[in-house]
Amino acid sequence: MIFADVIVDISVKSLDRPFQYIVPEEMEFDIDIGSVVRIPFGMGNRTMTGYVVGLSGEAKFDVSKTKSILEIMKQGVVVESHLLSLAYWIKENYGSTMNDAIKSVMPVKKEVKEQVKRIIYPAVDMENMKIKRRAKRDEFEKKHNSARVRLLDEFLKMDKETYNAGLDYSYITKKLNLTAGVIDGLRKLKIITVDAMQQYRNPVNAVSDTPETRPVLNSGQKHIVDAILNDYITDVRGTYLIHGITGSGKTEVYMNIVEKVVCLGKQVIVLIPEISLTFQMVNRFYKRFGNRISVMHSKLSAGERFDQYTRAKKGEIDVMIGPRSALFTPFENLGLIVIDEEHDTSYQSEMPPKYHAREVAIQRAKMVGASVVLGSATPSVDSYYKALKGEYRLFELNERAGNAIYPKIYIEDLREELKARNYSIFSRKLDELMRDRLGKKEQIMLFLNRRGFAGFVSCRQCGEVVGCPHCSVALKPHMAGDRVSYLMCHYCGYKMPMPDKCPECGSPYISSFGIGTEQVEQMVKKRFSAAKVLRMDADTTTGKNAHQDILKKYSGGDADILIGTQMIVKGHDFANVTLVGILAADLSLNVGDYLAAEKTFQLTTQACGRAGRADKPGEVVIQTYQPEHYSIVCAARNDYKSFYEQEILIREMLQYPPISNILGVLVLSENESSVDNLAKILADKMKLYHDVTVLGPTPAAIAKAKDVYRRMVYGKCTDYKILCSVKNSFEEFMQETESFKDCRLNFEFNCI
Ligand code: ADP
Ligand code: ZN
Ligand code: ZN
Repeated sequence: MIFADVIVDISVKSLDRPFQYIVPEEMEFDIDIGSVVRIPFGMGNRTMTGYVVGLSGEAKFDVSKTKSILEIMKQGVVVESHLLSLAYWIKENYGSTMNDAIKSVMPVKKEVKEQVKRIIYPAVDMENMKIKRRAKRDEFEKKHNSARVRLLDEFLKMDKETYNAGLDYSYITKKLNLTAGVIDGLRKLKIITVDAMQQYRNPVNAVSDTPETRPVLNSGQKHIVDAILNDYITDVRGTYLIHGITGSGKTEVYMNIVEKVVCLGKQVIVLIPEISLTFQMVNRFYKRFGNRISVMHSKLSAGERFDQYTRAKKGEIDVMIGPRSALFTPFENLGLIVIDEEHDTSYQSEMPPKYHAREVAIQRAKMVGASVVLGSATPSVDSYYKALKGEYRLFELNERAGNAIYPKIYIEDLREELKARNYSIFSRKLDELMRDRLGKKEQIMLFLNRRGFAGFVSCRQCGEVVGCPHCSVALKPHMAGDRVSYLMCHYCGYKMPMPDKCPECGSPYISSFGIGTEQVEQMVKKRFSAAKVLRMDADTTTGKNAHQDILKKYSGGDADILIGTQMIVKGHDFANVTLVGILAADLSLNVGDYLAAEKTFQLTTQACGRAGRADKPGEVVIQTYQPEHYSIVCAARNDYKSFYEQEILIREMLQYPPISNILGVLVLSENESSVDNLAKILADKMKLYHDVTVLGPTPAAIAKAKDVYRRMVYGKCTDYKILCSVKNSFEEFMQETESFKDCRLNFEFNCI
């Protein structure tokens, strides 16, 4: 007898463990780890869906009381067994239910009916058609079978080429107004044949109007390609980090490696940050790999997603390109995972399990014997640290591959503007250069850093940001009505009233910061009334192709100025952009998390990289209240290493990742006293681990959402495994205790 361990598809933590079922004899051949099954569950034997996570020959309980599987869902989507192991790893390392973890490794959860294309062919060749069928046609006409006549006429007027290609069924039935019965009648008379073929919904609407020109790799690129491939063909697998400035030819390097790995019969996943990047990137890959590439992302229809999933499984695709979720493409022969812009925040899942795609990619690669190539102009401090330690192999590309030169950069001190009575959002320098570009008909990008929007309090006179005396992060304003009543640190809970004067210089110009892209657009239109302006942010890009449409318009020269958030600074190549304005570079310095300086450096560097990509030299104006901050100074100098050296010192001093690890435990409940009690108990439990430094409990950044109270407890520890065992013990505690049934826990590792 065979037994299956089944995880029930239900989000109740106490039921998140395998239940054993009998596999009926007639299913023994078909069942597999990863199968989706229907099972009777609970007292009422309600029919539920479940995932088979294990098979064995031994009963765990009394067989007479063990229930049997009802059905294997043939139509369903089977999870590859190594993806199931990956789900288990995710559950263990990030904390979530097995059910949630299984769901995150399933990019497609439901089958969507296949699309079939039917073609009508004439049953005889063209010469015969002309002679014999004409007689038939006339016979039908006499019998007033006008529908049949219409179809035969259609064939009779075709030329040789189209004749052999046949007619599209659905098109022709509509155009000639034919019923299925008419077509079927002709088929029975053997006058026509009808062929059905499965047609995949293909989301790659790439254009290859211009043929690909393949550059000869420069020596820096060649060195990297050779080194990685040399490892590969000698069966050495590893993780590689390519630190290469924007435009240094990283993508070209990826494509060369991918090409070779594909030649060896392997499949490749290329992760890119988000939808805004896909068009240019997909187009480049499409030109080289043609139909053997595909994309998988959230804006595809369910049918499109299902078809890409199926094609991947059948091995009809060599390269899958997409954002975070594409990491779980069900390739059976995965040989390589490339992560472009590996520092990007979109690789971090926001929903539990809060996994990081980079870490999961490395784990998946380990399981199946694949390599991982990470690339970035501004590597995450985490990856760079690991590369310096030798965990990853580090490569550098320090020169731009084309002939573009690095732009000239101006740092404009917004405090000086205030002193000069310039109260606008444009510094005098930016204003001057914008007028110059508009005169020359060159394009301008204005970038508004939306990270940290209104999330801190600062002085417009001296630039001071009110920070926590214990944690070196900005204090968050808490509103009472429309004004700030007090400030609080979300790491340690430190609180102070909203000051009415700057604690540093005594000026009264102290306030929480906030301005949106829409306001910027209005101000630009008012000041530069002749300029044509486009705006790209979350509001203007909700439609399926909105991103591409805006970018196409802009690159086609339909606008002089593109205003936008983060999404405009990522990887777009516009030859005619010669001026980039960063309106408030330091906004992201004050978001109140340990990654603030890193994010600011990355965004500023990337924004700088957008100017002067082709033969026209570019200029960049960085406006800031903190012109001396190392993240801004180093970004302006394009000096990653100096930035890293200063940043890692701070991380060491404060024991932040990657030096140490942080486990954040989010306690949720609709009952305020439960949430407070539980958070306190968990903090005390955490203190029993001697190697763990405990912070909190404190209210979460959003202390209450939809009437659910939220508290945080943080633990810092150099050993990740200890934090995992803290998490496991909390999970056990929640299963065993009777007192906190109204509370839930979420875990986050290194992602606050
Ligand atoms: P990155 O990914 O580092 O930003 P890309 O691979 O996109 O860099 O290269 C930037 C530009 O330089 C692209 O237009 C690319 O076609 C071109 N390029 C890349 N490698 C070379 C090379 N070896 N010779 C000439 N041009 C190159
Ligand atoms: Zn001040
Ligand atoms: Zn603090």
